[in-house]
Amino acid sequence: MYFYNTLTRKVEYFSPQKVVRIYTCGPTVYNHAHIGNFRTYVFEDLLHRYLETRNHQVLRVMNLTDVDDKTIQGALRAGISLSDYTAPYKKSFFNDMKALRLRSATHYPAATDPENIAAMIAIIDHLLSRGHAYQAEDHSIYFRISSFKSYGSLARVNFEAQRSSARIRSDEYTKEEIADFALWKAWNQADGAVYWESPWGKGRPGWHLECSAMAMRLLGDQIDIHCGGIDNIFPHHEAEIAQCECVSGKKFVRLWMHAAHLMVEGTKMAKSAGNFYTVGDLLEQGWSGREIRYALLSVHYRTPLNFTMEGLEAARQSLHRLDEWIRRLHDITRDHSSSPGCLETLGPISLNDFFSALDHDLNISAALAVLFEVIRHSHRLLNEDALSIAEVVALLAWWRKVNSILALEPDLLDEEIPEEIKKLALLREKARASKNWNQSDLLRQAIEKQGWSVQDTKSEQKIIRKIAPSSRSNDHEVNIEKFNRTHS
Ligand code: AMP
Ligand code: ZN
Repeated sequence: MYFYNTLTRKVEYFSPQKVVRIYTCGPTVYNHAHIGNFRTYVFEDLLHRYLETRNHQVLRVMNLTDVDDKTIQGALRAGISLSDYTAPYKKSFFNDMKALRLRSATHYPAATDPENIAAMIAIIDHLLSRGHAYQAEDHSIYFRISSFKSYGSLARVNFEAQRSSARIRSDEYTKEEIADFALWKAWNQADGAVYWESPWGKGRPGWHLECSAMAMRLLGDQIDIHCGGIDNIFPHHEAEIAQCECVSGKKFVRLWMHAAHLMVEGTKMAKSAGNFYTVGDLLEQGWSGREIRYALLSVHYRTPLNFTMEGLEAARQSLHRLDEWIRRLHDITRDHSSSPGCLETLGPISLNDFFSALDHDLNISAALAVLFEVIRHSHRLLNEDALSIAEVVALLAWWRKVNSILALEPDLLDEEIPEEIKKLALLREKARASKNWNQSDLLRQAIEKQGWSVQDTKSEQKIIRKIAPSSRSNDHEVNIEKFNRTHS
């Protein structure tokens, strides 16, 4: 497999071990995550699922930043404790993940977990003892970037050149150099009740340190892949490298992968710019999590993605085509039990091309092109009656493997049939038994208005979810009592 490595700025061959250790920077839980954040998480989900399909075990950590300036300010403004303030945002993050079908990381450590705070304090202690850190006049502890020669190599910033001109000693700065970053921020009144005791006085950890500590505690000194959005490259990931490598003396990360931003009219989607949508906003507008997932997934992770409603509409159309295809394949195989035939190609298309496209730096656009080409071509073959049942079964098996990466199976295929629909269907069965065709038709319409359809086979009537219901509102809902009153 080949991936673009931010450190070398090249697409490189990557040979993973059986277990791949991945660290993914998670949300700062001071508010609901926006779909820009989720663009990065969807990319990480694709990476995770792809590696699993290639038979690797993924050990992935995603942190929750639940202490920083923004979370503290939010808690103070709301007049509640930090943990009470961040709890609903953590919950909302996990709900959104579920809506977007994101594969769970192995661990979701929170920065404020006691074992993580202890790990952060141990790192600072180590860095101080080796001269990589110092305590400033305000009692905060800073990382001394001049002590780490390769500082700046990830972002390609030459700090050596800047150093002579950027030496600042003012009342405002008690740091030795302006680029030195805080490992431990000494408590001040603005922090209210938020602080931890440490050998250097009460205070709280710096954000960069949080990630280093959680990565090393849960994944070890050396990890395979570290991901985030491109805004994380500097200073966050640069600082993580400095902290970890000064502690362990080993290369921290083999491969750095960063997602380009989700943009809105040329600017990054961000809370501070006020140009953001949350997953909840879009769900309320009637988009499904699956449609949002498709829109975020379908553009290569290193290409900036412009967010538009037209983009979501296009996602809906593509999924509609996918759903029709899956439905057609299921309908064909439903009444037949056949083992899958051997199907490596479909006309000119090699089915393996979907997976090999992803071997090249997760080329999702090429992979999706293969999928839609397979859809188009198989419709044609089915229209010509040129696919056997065994081949259709094989096609469905291929789709299931593809879906283990895409996670785009229609919501509704295996959905539980609601009681109300079952009752309407039972009434219809009785109407048909007594040859009351008029009643039976009305009942069929009632069922269809609720997004379901009935198919009459020789032995029974089948109830299936109609793909892409025409409306998401409840306007068409038919109440069973009302139906009985009107039609009995
Ligand atoms: P934050 O909660 O700000 O720490 O961000 C969480 C993750 O979302 C980080 O990996 C960021 O790089 C990423 N991120 C933030 N904004 C965007 C955006 N507009 N597009 C893509 N990723 C983003
Ligand atoms: Zn991080």
